[in-house]
Amino acid sequence: MGEYDILFEPVRIGPKTAPNRFYQVPHCNGLGHLRPQSLAAMRGVKAEGGWGVVCTEEVEIHPTSDIAPCIEGRIWDDHDVAGHQLMTEAVHAHGALAGIELTHAGIDAANHYSHLTPMGPRSEGVLGDSGFEPQQTRAMTRRDFADVRRWHRKAALRARDAGYDIIYCYAAHGLTLPMQLLSRRHNDRTDQYGGSLANRVRFLRELIEDTRDAVGDDCAVAVRLAVDELLGDEGITHDGEGREILGMLAELPDLWDVNVSDWSNDSATSRFAAEGHQEPYISFVKSLTTKPVVGVGRYTSPDAMVSAVRRGVLDLIGAARPSIADPHLPRKIREGRAASIRECIGCNICVATDPKGLPIRCTQNPTMGEEWRRGWHPERIAVRRSSSRVMVVGAGPAGLEAARALGQRGHEVQLLDAQPEVGGRVNRESLLPGLAAWRRVVDWRRWEIGSLRDVEVFPASPMDAADVLESGVRNVIMATGATWRRDGRGRSTGTAVAGFDHDHVRTPDDLLDDLESGQWRLPEGEVVLYDDDHYVMGGLLAELIAGRGHAVTLITPAPLASYWTQFTLEQARIEARLRSLGVRIVPRTTLQRISSGHVRTAGVISAEQAEWTADSVVLVADRQPRIEVHDALVPALENGLLDSLTLVGDADAPGLIAQAVFSGHRAARQFGEQVDPDAVEFLREG
Ligand code: ADP
Ligand code: SF4
Repeated sequence: MGEYDILFEPVRIGPKTAPNRFYQVPHCNGLGHLRPQSLAAMRGVKAEGGWGVVCTEEVEIHPTSDIAPCIEGRIWDDHDVAGHQLMTEAVHAHGALAGIELTHAGIDAANHYSHLTPMGPRSEGVLGDSGFEPQQTRAMTRRDFADVRRWHRKAALRARDAGYDIIYCYAAHGLTLPMQLLSRRHNDRTDQYGGSLANRVRFLRELIEDTRDAVGDDCAVAVRLAVDELLGDEGITHDGEGREILGMLAELPDLWDVNVSDWSNDSATSRFAAEGHQEPYISFVKSLTTKPVVGVGRYTSPDAMVSAVRRGVLDLIGAARPSIADPHLPRKIREGRAASIRECIGCNICVATDPKGLPIRCTQNPTMGEEWRRGWHPERIAVRRSSSRVMVVGAGPAGLEAARALGQRGHEVQLLDAQPEVGGRVNRESLLPGLAAWRRVVDWRRWEIGSLRDVEVFPASPMDAADVLESGVRNVIMATGATWRRDGRGRSTGTAVAGFDHDHVRTPDDLLDDLESGQWRLPEGEVVLYDDDHYVMGGLLAELIAGRGHAVTLITPAPLASYWTQFTLEQARIEARLRSLGVRIVPRTTLQRISSGHVRTAGVISAEQAEWTADSVVLVADRQPRIEVHDALVPALENGLLDSLTLVGDADAPGLIAQAVFSGHRAARQFGEQVDPDAVEFLREG
């Protein structure tokens, strides 16, 4: 008996049987109703990879639950059914069950697309979209409740007809009407739906009963419930009302899918929550019900999964992000290849596309969302057309991915890097507070490359143009990365910051050098950190510096510290951490001049000037692509000494690690292929 066999036991879910314990819980993806073929292909690849249950994202049951501009599922009427059939067929083709998360979003629906009146437990400002939309809900009438029940019932019947096996009643994340009715913060009704907990639970109970009544034994009925909102007495708690609700409804559904709310707590990044982080909140559930229980916690380790089952915490291992980073995770465990799992790094780049209505992407898995439109598969890649030797210069995420994928295609590859260790920026950035899991970007690629016969890795090999040409290799991919600009030039001012060349000015690279060497060289005293980058680096360095006892002032032209991290659900946590460390945050302000001992700033709105004490200054602005060697090789390409020369990753254009990985992967896929530079290289829907 294998150590992971327990994960491959079938689990009965009401009238259905899941073939194993791997359960892809509902997750958004920006494909939804707009891109049904892309969606079906993406879900199908997960079923192929061994997920025994594959669910949709939230699926709006009616135009009064319209959460545009987010692109989720819709099952408003029969018109929407064909798209769902594509998905259920793709999932069933591999023997998995398909689940649908029916949703009425209540206060979360601004109805920007339908222009219908939003509805909720009471009249209050809607919570969806920006969270600050100039629109209130209507307090639901008796008739509204009857309407929503009927819409849910009809949606359940359509879902059954579309081929779904599991139908959800969704009361989690604060995103749905049943959960908003459970909440004392939103529900102060005095009718049968308000007041006592039994009254607040009434609507969820009715939805479960209606759904069961509608679909009978054709489908299983699941409930997704937030058992804790992490708000203490203000909200639902796992040892308070969460427990009571579960007790009241214990045997009613066929499956319990339980988690913590809101979404930022459920999908906490690795910086703020470890694998299995929800166990303390959800482990009580199995003691109150005989029905199977699924829960999440960014499980990527089969040992942790087995342990969660053996300890009686979960029957089914729920996963959204681990299934995005590695759609074939279950299959790899079953085939004894667990070391090949492409583990999620917990960065939430996959989440960041959702509020923008864009197709999902993933740092670790460059094929995510590309299954249909580019025909990319996470495990398979076209074999080479002809044998070629390729040199990849630079072994950061872009170079590692290019070399790995080229090797997988059967090319002979030399991967070289100036540094003694491969990994590039990831080696350094993963030393920052809380980013250790980011190393998985390097670890997985290094492991895979280790099993590729024709990929040779040469660390400690700085290359110049002459070295490249002397090697005789005629195809070169340059993945040489970027450095942080020393002059503080960024998008907000567009020019170098006056005084950037003072001795007391540092860049992120200087501080990362210190971290790597273990020699902290920042002199004692007050530090001004100027962040015109707006993703994690500025906030992380402020955290690092403040943690070493410096007084830190973080100045940024943006309205918020680490502005872009709101899309990865981290901004509030980052700001809270900075405040707890005493970091002073000065938003909407640009850096004008650095002098010895102080800096001068100007307000973005009023241009009002101010001075701040600064014994040291850290400039986090644009990056400078490292392209000298590439540029020196261009004449060789033009003279026919090279057959191809391709710039990828941060050397091409600095950005996210996700973009570097994607860029390296794309270069490998396109290498040796006929690519028409004038053609759109992917399919479009609609
Ligand atoms: P990306 O994110 O695009 O992969 P990184 O900055 O992470 O970029 O990695 C670039 C890598 O390229 C670094 O490890 C760096 O040491 C290496 N590198 C840069 N220039 C050269 C060079 N001339 N020869 C060899 N390696 C180089
Ligand atoms: Fe995990 Fe990041 Fe990929 Fe999302 S984008 S699945 S968090 S690695």
